[in-house]
Amino acid sequence: MKQRLSILGSTGSIGVQTLDIVRENPDMFEITSLTARSNWQLLARQAIEFDAACVVITDTTKYDALKGALASYPIKVFTGEESLRQIVCSQEVDVVVNALVGYAGLVPTVAAIKAGKKIALANKETLVVGGDLVMRLASQRHVPVLPIDSEHSAIFQCLAGEHSPVRRLIITCSGGALRDMPAEELPAVTPERALQHPQWRMGAKITIDSATLVNKGFEVIEAHWLFGVEPDRISVLIHPQSIVHSMVEFDDGAIKAQLGTPDMHMPISYALMFPHRASRPKEAFDFMQHPELTFSAVDRKKYPALDIAYDCLRRGGTAACTMNGANEVAVAAFLDGRCRFTDITSAIEYALQKAGFTAAPSLEDYAAANTESRALAAEYLRL
Ligand code: NDP
Ligand code: MG
Repeated sequence: MKQRLSILGSTGSIGVQTLDIVRENPDMFEITSLTARSNWQLLARQAIEFDAACVVITDTTKYDALKGALASYPIKVFTGEESLRQIVCSQEVDVVVNALVGYAGLVPTVAAIKAGKKIALANKETLVVGGDLVMRLASQRHVPVLPIDSEHSAIFQCLAGEHSPVRRLIITCSGGALRDMPAEELPAVTPERALQHPQWRMGAKITIDSATLVNKGFEVIEAHWLFGVEPDRISVLIHPQSIVHSMVEFDDGAIKAQLGTPDMHMPISYALMFPHRASRPKEAFDFMQHPELTFSAVDRKKYPALDIAYDCLRRGGTAACTMNGANEVAVAAFLDGRCRFTDITSAIEYALQKAGFTAAPSLEDYAAANTESRALAAEYLRL
C-alpha cells in the first residue's frame, strides 16, 4: 500500500526536497494534498506533476490565480489557514509532512495528531511553542512524530535499537553564517551576509535563526520534547563541517554518531520510510574529501540566544512560545532592513521580560502568548 501524503509547505526548501523523495519512489508514496502561502505558480506545477487531489494557498489574494491555473484539472483548490486544519484530517491522508515555517505549523500538527495521522515534522516551531501539549497528545493517540530536522534525525537513528538510559545528547552546530565574525561586527551585518550559510541551503527564516543560534536553542527544546531528555543532559558543540549530524552518549561511556553529507534528502527519506531506508545509490560519502572533523565550544557571550532558549525550556509553560513569537517578528524585520542583527536577540529578551506567563497552557493560551510576544517585539523594534 502506498503512503498517502499531505505536504504542508510544499513550495519551500523542505517541501521541494520531500517531493524529490516522492519522485524517486513512485511505488511508495502518493500525494493527496500540497500547500503554500503565496507561491501559487510552483504549487500549481507541483499539483499537476504529482496529481494531487487538493491544494491550499493560505494567502487568499492568490486564490483566483491558482484556481485559474488548475481550471482544467480535477484538483480541488482551497484557501485560508483554516483549510490547512481541514485537509490534514482527510481520510485520504496517512502521513502529514509539516514543512511550514513558524508558529503557523502548530495548529495543523495538533489537528493531524487528533485525526491519528503519522507526523513527519520539519516545523520545529511546533515543538518549541507547544512541545508539552503536542507530545502528550501524540502519546495519548499513539501517533508517531518522526523528526526531519537533521540533528534530531541523527539522534533518532543513534537511539534505534537501544534500551539503556541515555547519559547525554550532543547536538552539533555549524555555527551559522557569522561563525568567524568578531562579535563587535555583528550589529552592522546585512541580511545578505547573514543569509550566506556555509553548509546548508535553507529557507530565509531558519538561515537567520542559524546565524543568531536561535535555531540551535530551538533544537535543544525540540530534542527535549522528542526524546524526553532533561536540559542539563543536552549539550551543543560547534562542528563547522556539518558531517557529524549529532550524537548520543550512553551510560557506559559509548558515543554513537550519525555522519554523512549535509543533505536534507537523507533525514526526510528516513522520516518517511522508517524503519526502512531509502535506496540512494548516488549518495556516497568520501572520507578523503573530509579529512578533518573539528569540534569546539559555543561562544555563549557572542550568542546569548542559546542560553535564553535553555532558560525558556527550564521555565516551561509559555516561555518558549514567547521567545518564538518575538523571534519571528524580529527576523522578519531584520530581513526587511528594519532592525539590526543584534536587535533580534534584544527583542526576544524584551518580550520575555514583559510578557505574561501561563504554566500549563492550552492551545488558546499559546495563541494568546504568541500574539502578545509579537506585539512586544514590534513595540521594542518600533515597527
Ligand atoms: P521555507 O521558507 O523554504 O518554506 C516554508 C513553506 O511554508 C513554503 O511552502 C511557504 O509557502 C509556506 N509558508 C510559510 N509561511 C507560512 C504561513 N504563515 N502559513 C502557511 N504556509 C506558510 O522554509 P524551510 O523549508 O526552510 O523550513 C520549513 C521548516 O523546516 C521550518 O520550521 C524550519 O525550521 C525547518 N527546517 C528546515 C531545514 C531546511 O534545510 N530548510 C532544516 C531543518 C529544519 P511560500 O513558498 O508560498 O512562501
Ligand atoms: Mg537542524
